[in-house]
Amino acid sequence: MSTILRAANVDRRMIPLLRPLLPSAERLLPYLKRIDAGRIYTNHGPLVREFEQRLRCLIGHDLRLATATSGTLALEAAIVSAAPLSPERPLALMPSFTFTATALAAERCGYKPYFLDIDPDTWMIDPAKLGMHPMIDKAGLVIPVAPLGRPVPAAAWAAFSQATGIPVVIDAAGSLSQIFDDPEQFVGSVPVIASLHATKGFSSGEGGLVLSRDESVIHGCVRALNFGFYGSRESLSAGTNGKMSEYHAAIGLAELDGWKEKRQRFLAVADIYQRVAADRGLADRFFCVPEVGISYAILEARSVDESLRIRQHLEAASIGSRLWYENGLHLHAHFARTPRDAMGASEKTAARLIGLPMAPDLVPDQIVRILATVADAVFGPARAVQGL
Ligand SMILES: *Cc1c(COP(=O)(O)O)cnc(C)c1O
Repeated sequence: MSTILRAANVDRRMIPLLRPLLPSAERLLPYLKRIDAGRIYTNHGPLVREFEQRLRCLIGHDLRLATATSGTLALEAAIVSAAPLSPERPLALMPSFTFTATALAAERCGYKPYFLDIDPDTWMIDPAKLGMHPMIDKAGLVIPVAPLGRPVPAAAWAAFSQATGIPVVIDAAGSLSQIFDDPEQFVGSVPVIASLHATKGFSSGEGGLVLSRDESVIHGCVRALNFGFYGSRESLSAGTNGKMSEYHAAIGLAELDGWKEKRQRFLAVADIYQRVAADRGLADRFFCVPEVGISYAILEARSVDESLRIRQHLEAASIGSRLWYENGLHLHAHFARTPRDAMGASEKTAARLIGLPMAPDLVPDQIVRILATVADAVFGPARAVQGL
């Protein structure tokens, strides 16, 4: 009873889908003062080096990594480094169920995207099925994606790459916190990229990482992110300017200082979400960390109709929600003519996975209000009250 009374009494202000929380000015200040004193602002300065060093402490010193200005640039660097384009194999195979950066990055590296359908249970493309794909002989690259931050186990893709000789780059943009928790499972010889965008949990405002156990791939990335330079000012390979600045490293370092606490707050919010979801009969429809990224709360509607109804109810209640990947990249104007498989599972999945509000400081009353609104849409108001 108490929950519904509280839900009825909370204020009706907008609950935004996302309200990122990055380190305060106070926490940044010591790092900014170091930049002032050193007058080194970019080009692998002391703060970037310290940031990389401290990340390695967290994920293990056998892992190599490169920092970048964004997850998208990290992806481009990993592609240029691990999968240099060859004319006989112009296709980059990837899911349509992803954020548009996955396909745009492949295009910028000269590849033609080809969209694969996903497995409806994992929401991912399946390495076991890909060996028989009709386009496999034209594929120069495969980009498995960690959908909504649901992490991609690395071993199966390393085995696929070994067996076929086709390079693989994993887009794990939203999975960094699970990678921190279990680097063995989620990083292998195949390069993995992560985003440090403000919406992605662990953040430096904008930023990206390439992670791999293969040192030569990471060397290639460092070169690709710095005009093709390595140890001299001569372009040794293709490249761009994708270097992380000292200012972004300052945010990253302050984020590392507070990460234990921020992670704990996200986990506490996820825990309350799960308990309220169970209360409301929504447990089997609800996903949070570690099944999806730490900055995601996902409601899986049973049908496309139910999904529409839920989103209408949320909108009417001033609660933010989003189909994170719309209905798939193949429906974006730019990718309308991109070759692809039949998109049955992708379309059904994309239209049913609803992003709910998530923030490290979301309070229980807000979570109750969000899931009461969802329960109304799913079961009707009568059942929602009865369900108490
Ligand atoms: C966020 C995201 C990216 C892009 O990362 P940025 O740091 O914003 O460039 C790429 N792929 C996926 C799946 C993402 O969610």
